[in-house]
Order: sequence, then structure tokens, then C-alpha cells
Amino acid sequence: MQYHEDPTNILVIDDEKDLRDGCERIIKRMNCKVFKASTGEEGIDIFIEHRPSIVLSDLKMPGIDGIEVLRRLRDIDEQVLVIIITGFATIDTAIEAMKQGAYDFVAKPFEPDQLRIVVGRAMEKLKLRRQARALELERLRNLADLGTEKSRIHAIIESLPNGIVVTNAKGLVVLMNPDFRKRFEISPERAAGDRVETYIQDQGLCALIHEISQGKHVDDDKVPTYELTLPSEIYLLARGQSVLGEDNECLGAVMIFTNITDLKNFDQLKSEFVAKVSHELRSPLATIHEQLASVISEMPVDADPENRGLLLRAKEKTKGLISFIGNLLDLARIEAGNDYNNPKEVRVAEILDGIVDFLKSRAVSKGQALSIVHDVRELPLVVADPLAIESIFGNLITNSIKYTPKKGRIDVNTTLEGDRVKVTVSDNGFGMDQQQQKMIFEKFYRIKNEKTRHIVGTGLGLSIVKGLVDAMEGEILVDSAPDCGSRFSVYLPIKKV
Ligand code: ADP
Repeated sequence: MQYHEDPTNILVIDDEKDLRDGCERIIKRMNCKVFKASTGEEGIDIFIEHRPSIVLSDLKMPGIDGIEVLRRLRDIDEQVLVIIITGFATIDTAIEAMKQGAYDFVAKPFEPDQLRIVVGRAMEKLKLRRQARALELERLRNLADLGTEKSRIHAIIESLPNGIVVTNAKGLVVLMNPDFRKRFEISPERAAGDRVETYIQDQGLCALIHEISQGKHVDDDKVPTYELTLPSEIYLLARGQSVLGEDNECLGAVMIFTNITDLKNFDQLKSEFVAKVSHELRSPLATIHEQLASVISEMPVDADPENRGLLLRAKEKTKGLISFIGNLLDLARIEAGNDYNNPKEVRVAEILDGIVDFLKSRAVSKGQALSIVHDVRELPLVVADPLAIESIFGNLITNSIKYTPKKGRIDVNTTLEGDRVKVTVSDNGFGMDQQQQKMIFEKFYRIKNEKTRHIVGTGLGLSIVKGLVDAMEGEILVDSAPDCGSRFSVYLPIKKV
């Protein structure tokens, strides 16, 4: 902070000319502008005109005396610093003057240094006063800035078209904006301050908010999200982030809710469209495939091998298309939530044995060893649609066979982990890097490299698997490295019908 130092205006009132001039000489060298008056009355006039900050006034003067001058000056400006000049004989009066509000006094006769010290002290006081005033102004300005900043942020949060709720580390709601209140039907009178579940009914969402409030997702790669449907058929996407303090301690969570109803409806229309088109294509394709098969089987033995090859390739392509369409239909039905929804108590180990038996010949044709081991003799029953279990593990084991070179090995293992059945499908095949592992559950994603180039696929298998596992509230994890194989672990919750 820099203070601009203007010369200080000082008024000297004394009936003795020598003293006035003497004072002027001494004070002028102190970056001061000096005014002089020979009587109290003249002094007051000069004071009114030039407003000096310091006044040196003799006590005993003809006309009004120093005490009266002091009184009148302080009436005009309470802040003025008056220094009384007095003779030894009137020291008591000087003390009286101090009581009346004089700033200081100097006894006559005085040395130049004495005057300098007294005036210097008064100037220092003025300087401190100026600094204090500047600081006070600055503080007020900061407060005003803060006030406007606060109300600006408040106005922005209030008018956001997205819902916002903020919780503290204990999961107590500390702030809600109008959009959030509207979505969750919370009246404007309802104050913040209670646990989040008293405002939001969805338990899964509340559990996530508590986790974020406690900083459990701080290191996650992705912002945690949660989709929920409100009774008013509105779909919301909740995204949340921990609020961290200066020492990185978690202070709570901020959750943002976006209305994704239009997107959802659009997605549903798209799924319906895909399902319809796929359905319409499947029957004619199946007919073409059958007819190609019968033409090939009825071909004379000496038929042109080129023609036969052409027809065989056409038949293979239609087979690929039929399986692609089957996958698309599967996916559309899983997304619409109306497939694989005949849950019953199933023995996962038995279904797996069946799949492994069925796929063994395919593994053997590649010289691969496909085996299954059950760690626990009797696994608890899992409530699921058996067709979904078949689809999940059929896809995973088929992938392991496809993406493992000849003579490789594929191991299926079942075990119990906590209150979940865990099934792993491991192979010593091509494997994949971290980046690819993040993408494989996306629709139509396929790893394209020298090794996989000739392997037929649609890129839909794993998204079907993920959709089914999610629908069962299970979990699927992948652990893999290029050329070191892959391990897919599926966790299925054990629950009652
Ligand atoms: P598709 O097999 O039809 O291409 P998926 O969705 O089943 O589609 O798999 C997506 C991609 O993931 C595959 O293209 C493949 O590159 C990779 N992948 C899947 N399983 C394995 C595995 N066990 N080992 C190596 N790569 C795999």
C-alpha cells in the first residue's frame, strides 16, 4: 500500500512576530506548508479557509486566548491537532488545555529540536490516522466486494437450470437450489440441515452421496454418476464431486442433477428402431442362409470349385449377419428391460458346466484346453434368469476361445466371495492394454490389430454381458495385459426371490 505524502498544512498563531517566524523556519523544513496568524480571531479565519491539520497556538494572547481558540477550532473540526505554546508560569493552564482536547504542548522558550519533536509527533499521528482510514476504506471495499460476489454466486446457483444439493462430511444437506427442490418436491419453506435421505427417497443415490461426502471417490478416474427416475417419469442424471478443504480434507459433496428425459426418450426410440429393423431383416436373412445351404449341399460333386467357394463365403457372411442381428436384438431388449426377466433360483455351477461342455469342441478344434474348477462344493443359489447366465458366460468363454491362439488354455473358476458368487474366465491369449480395457464394454468396440484382424465379431458381446450383469446388480471386472492373457471376473449377488 502506498500513501501519497502531501505537505502538511500547519498554522502558527502567536502575537510575537519573532516566535511566529522562528516556528515557520523550523517547520518548513519538515515538508510542511506554514500559515501564520498574530491573533486568535485571525487564526480561526485562516483555519476555516485552509483547514490545516496541525495548529500551534500561543496560550496567552490579546483578544481570545489559546484555550478559546482550541475550543472553537475543535468545534469546527474535532480531528484538528492543536499544540499549545505556553510559558513556564502557565504550565497548569497548559495541562488544563490538554484536558480540553489539546494534542500536546511546548513550553517557551524552546529549542528548535523540541519544536521539531512535538510537531514530528503530531505529523506521525496524522500519518497513522491516514493509514488507518485507508485500511478501513479498503476493508469496507473488500466487504462490499465480498458481499456482491456472494450475492452474485447465490443468484447464479439459484437460477441454474440444473438441480444442486450440497452436503457436509456427515451427509447433512447444507444447500439446495430451487431446481433441486422442484425435482424432489421439497417445499421452499423446508430448511436445509437434515440428513440427505430425508429429502431424497432413492436409497442408492443417498448411499452414493454419503460416499462422496466422505471423500471415497476422490481418486476415481471418472466423476461418479447415478441415474434415477422420478415418479413424474423424469429421468435425472446425478453427478457428484467431493468438496476438498485447504489440506485436502473432504468437507462434503456437491451433486448436480441434469434432466436427461429427452435423451432417454430418444435412446428408447433408437433402440425400438434398431429392434424393428433387425427383426424385419432377420427372417429374410435366415431364408437366404437356408437356401444357400441347400444350394451348396445339392451341388454336384464336380461343380466348379470357384462357384462353390463363392457360395460358401456368401453363406458364412449371412451367418455373420444373422448373429449380428441377433446381438442387436438382444441388446435392444436388454436396454428396454424386457428380456431375460424371468428370474428364478439357479445353480450357476451347473449352467457353467453345461456351457463348458457345449464349447469344449470349439476349444479342442483350436488345440486349446478348456477346463472348469469349482472351489466351493455347493455354491449358494443365485436369483437370475438362467438364459442371462448362459448369455454372460457363453459370451465370455467364446471370447476367450476366439482371442487366445491355438494350443492356449482357458480356465473357468467358481467360488464364493462374501455374499457374492464369483466366476472368473481366464485365458493366456492376446490380452489387451489398459486403454482398451476401458473401452471393451462400449457397443461396437473391437480391438483391431494384426492378431485380431481375421477374427469375426460384432463388438456387441461384451456390452450385452455388461448390460445383463448390471441388470442383476452384479459387477464385472477385467484384468489383462497384452500377450499375457485376460481374466474376466463376474460377481453375482446372492439374494432371495
Ligand atoms: P466381439 O468379440 O464380437 O468383437 P465383444 O464385445 O465380445 O465383441 O468384445 C470386444 C473386444 O474386446 C473384442 O473385439 C476383443 O478385441 C476384446 N476381447 C474380448 N474378450 C477378450 C479376451 N478374452 N482376450 C482378448 N481380447 C478380448
